[in-house]
Amino acid sequence: MDAQPQIAPQDLLREHGVQVTAQRLAVLRAVSQHPHGTADDVADAVRHEIGAISRQGVYDALGVLVDKGLLRRIQPAGSPARFEHRVGDNHHHVVCRVCGGTDDVDCAVGAAPCLDAADTHGYEIDEAEVIFWGRCPGCREPAGGT
Ligand SMILES: [Zn+2]
Ligand SMILES: [Zn+2]
Ligand SMILES: [Zn+2]
Repeated sequence: MDAQPQIAPQDLLREHGVQVTAQRLAVLRAVSQHPHGTADDVADAVRHEIGAISRQGVYDALGVLVDKGLLRRIQPAGSPARFEHRVGDNHHHVVCRVCGGTDDVDCAVGAAPCLDAADTHGYEIDEAEVIFWGRCPGCREPAGGT
């Protein structure tokens, strides 16, 4: 893990042109503490920290933070959207088919698109969405089982 320079969250928001509010700060903190959480996970964590916040308030804050590049939104097939604060490195994810567990996988290239399309059909390609699917250690069948 790279040690990231510690920038105060409120400065981070200002740097990205986001008005600082207690809700946005709490949402940002909740996502950094619960990477790959759903909006509901984030709402639970935020309520725990600052008390009442409407579901819509959480969605709005997440939307702004994603728009401004402070958070990344991923949505594996069949899963609700998940949010994380690790942005800008084009990392990928491995998702467990059984429990939905999600982990980060570094991108060998590090910048999007990290795969070349055989035929772009004239499109200007800016991203290749890569998700690895499988079963996590907890969901794999015990070795030697039938
Ligand atoms: Zn699993
Ligand atoms: Zn991730
Ligand atoms: Zn890649």
